[in-house]
Amino acid sequence: MAHAVTFIPGDGTGPEIAEATRRVLEATGVEFDWDFQNAGIDVYENEGNPLPDRTLDSIRERGLAIKGPTTTPVGSGHRSINVALRQEFDLYACIRPCKAYEGVRTRFPETNIVIVRENTEDLYAGIEFERGSEEVEKLRGFLAGELGSPTRDETGISIKPISVFGSERIVEAAFGYVKANGRRKVTAAHKANIMKFSDGLFLEVARRVATRHPEVEFEDRIIDNLCNQIVSRPEEYDVIVTPNLYGDIVSDLGAGMVGGLGVAPGANIGTTGAIFEATHGSAPKYKGQNKVNPTALLLSGVLLLRHLNETGAADRMERAVAEVIRTGDKVTYDLKPTRDDPYAVGTSQFADAVIEEMR
Ligand code: NAD
Repeated sequence: MAHAVTFIPGDGTGPEIAEATRRVLEATGVEFDWDFQNAGIDVYENEGNPLPDRTLDSIRERGLAIKGPTTTPVGSGHRSINVALRQEFDLYACIRPCKAYEGVRTRFPETNIVIVRENTEDLYAGIEFERGSEEVEKLRGFLAGELGSPTRDETGISIKPISVFGSERIVEAAFGYVKANGRRKVTAAHKANIMKFSDGLFLEVARRVATRHPEVEFEDRIIDNLCNQIVSRPEEYDVIVTPNLYGDIVSDLGAGMVGGLGVAPGANIGTTGAIFEATHGSAPKYKGQNKVNPTALLLSGVLLLRHLNETGAADRMERAVAEVIRTGDKVTYDLKPTRDDPYAVGTSQFADAVIEEMR
């Protein structure tokens, strides 16, 4: 039976890499029943809403979407579609595999880590109080008067909530990922030595969850030490689970270690839906030029196949992408030795090469 999936091309270079990904996914032989829906700046300009209800309804019905990147205007205009999707579908786990494929320029060729980032709590919960506002003065008064914790004048405050519920489900997601994907170890990253009641809670819960999975190795690392270690000895790390802020930073660190944004895939897994998309943005300056690298969204497609238990197709597609990168012949400009290499191919020809490789 065909898999029903919402297909969101996005904007900027999104539609080009999304089309490339659709063609490769279909060439695996797996059947998809795509529901094509819009999101992004183009639909915002036409309809005044960057994320129409029909798009949300489609994801709600199918529980699955693959999405090209979408532009978030700075300063004005609509709010981030990704934030809206995360809230709507409670996408609490952001999974970012960072694997160095042979042929990619990297100083860290042994890297094969997966970051499992909590996506709903921590300093990104959006509980913020602006310097000088009535709210912040009230809060500062409470902190100083009731709790004996004074703050300096002209202070802005962001609150860092970390709950047992949020920590438990993200650490369970990390162990679940290890088991579903034949990995070996979970490392919990934190700063529990300083933030005892937020990161400390995260660590305490992580240790407790680990006892439910004795067959999987478990360890923890203080986040600054972890950053030092993953660039010194990347081969020692496998699946890393973190609260929101550290996960955001370590995900980009990992993407840089394996060749950059053009090759970094992602999956956002929630209670009522899962959305697969590249780590990078809409790269609008290359829009319509058939230029950017589709690898990140292609590998997000591989994650979708694994999520659907289409393991054979996922392996075939990943191997084909890896082979095209390894050969280095039919790759986009960013994977060539110099950025103005005259033999770089376009987005669409990269996809053709992957399809050819799967035959
Ligand atoms: P970006 O990732 O779009 O691009 C930054 C630079 O990285 C590009 O100019 C390009 O040189 C390179 N790059 C990115 N993707 C590439 C690819 N596939 N192949 C080759 N090179 C690639 O980041 P930005 O310019 O900061 O953001 C542009 C827009 O995208 C913003 O509006 C931002 O909010 C949005 N954004 C969306 C998402 C998402 O939809 N998930 C994620 C991040 C940023």
